[in-house]
Amino acid sequence: MEPGGTKRGAGEVAAAEPRSKLPRPAPSLPTAAALYAGPFPFYRRPSQLGCFSLDAQRRYRGDARALRYYRPPANGQRPDFDLRDGYPERYRPRDEEAREGLDHLLRWLLEHRGGLEGGPGWLAGAIVTWRGHLTKLLTTPYERQEGWQLAASRFQGTLYLSEVETPAARAQRLSRPPLLRELMYMGYKFEQYMCADKPGGSPDPSGEVNTNVAFCSVLRSRLGSHPLLFSGEVDCTDPQAPSPEPPACYVELKTSKEMHSPAQWRSFYRHKLLKWWAQSFLLGVPSVVAGFRNPEGFVCSLKTFPTMQMFEHVRNDRDGWNPSVCMNFCAAFLSFAQNTVVQDDPRLVHLFSWEPGGPVTVSVHRDAPPVFLPTWYVEAMTQELPPPPHDTGP
Ligand code: GDP
Ligand code: MG
Repeated sequence: MEPGGTKRGAGEVAAAEPRSKLPRPAPSLPTAAALYAGPFPFYRRPSQLGCFSLDAQRRYRGDARALRYYRPPANGQRPDFDLRDGYPERYRPRDEEAREGLDHLLRWLLEHRGGLEGGPGWLAGAIVTWRGHLTKLLTTPYERQEGWQLAASRFQGTLYLSEVETPAARAQRLSRPPLLRELMYMGYKFEQYMCADKPGGSPDPSGEVNTNVAFCSVLRSRLGSHPLLFSGEVDCTDPQAPSPEPPACYVELKTSKEMHSPAQWRSFYRHKLLKWWAQSFLLGVPSVVAGFRNPEGFVCSLKTFPTMQMFEHVRNDRDGWNPSVCMNFCAAFLSFAQNTVVQDDPRLVHLFSWEPGGPVTVSVHRDAPPVFLPTWYVEAMTQELPPPPHDTGP
């Protein structure tokens, strides 16, 4: 399904003037949910290609050292987590001014491009991005508050997508109210209460909350005809998961306000559960464990939401969301981007912009921000692949 396709309007004016003189309408993509109903598109079960970690100083580490282990309170034990404990004195928030773009993922790709499955040429046909950017695409038909901008460059065939912070998002971030800052801390604090650093270990809430630290899974999937290579931050792995292989062993942790009325639950299902579903479904994370916090900032109850059952909460809700709409819109956007970014040039950026209520529009930029593919990456990719290690065995 390709709304806003190429046929629109072309027929009416073609006879009046030679084709080349026609003013080319600025391409755009509509986002109304009604346009994207229809059957669920093909989505390949995401398989993990590898992983990397970011350490306490936000340095890239090519291993799983930052992976944590799910360790909820023992059976029958009610949680009693003070999410405000340690704030602000044991909080080391990451520097949000640092523009990392795709850099960490590109480093992983550079180091593993020789051994990618899918055969030679697979990467040239793929789209490379963060999972979080795909999440924003999935929720676009239902989003009424926050717009986005995605920068796109084609290089050696591959289409790279990297988010650009909108001026509105930047202004909001810089004027973030103190209460919202504390709420962000509380989300990370919950992870600390629920995770151990070692498979048999126990959570240690006495330490710092350092949001520089991250474990990122790198996955391969495909949406419709679009091969995908993307990475997403994973909260923890469950040592007791029924299927131990990633991403089926991963668990996403979230906090939310305690709810007391059916109206509160309905609103939660319509808004929050959509974001939780999109994020976890893309990566193949089978469940989200929610901690519900009371007005004093304590988590006293937990609830597991299986990703594949989230839609049931809104299936019969006329104001609910629909996974098919999310995935069909994402597929349409990826086709739109693939057809718009024709030139192979890492210094050329097509910037896709969207504000709620409008269509996705495009502008073109060269040799200046928002150019995002770093020189070190472009130069290294332009070199020949290093030869495979020579077998010196007997
Ligand atoms: P998510 O789904 O929004 O959590 O994003 P991803 O899982 O795709 O994460 C991609 C990368 O962006 C990881 O290195 C994260 O640590 C980082 N990241 C995620 N959210 C934020 C954020 O709000 N601000 C900044 N600066 N980085 C973030
Ligand atoms: Mg989380």
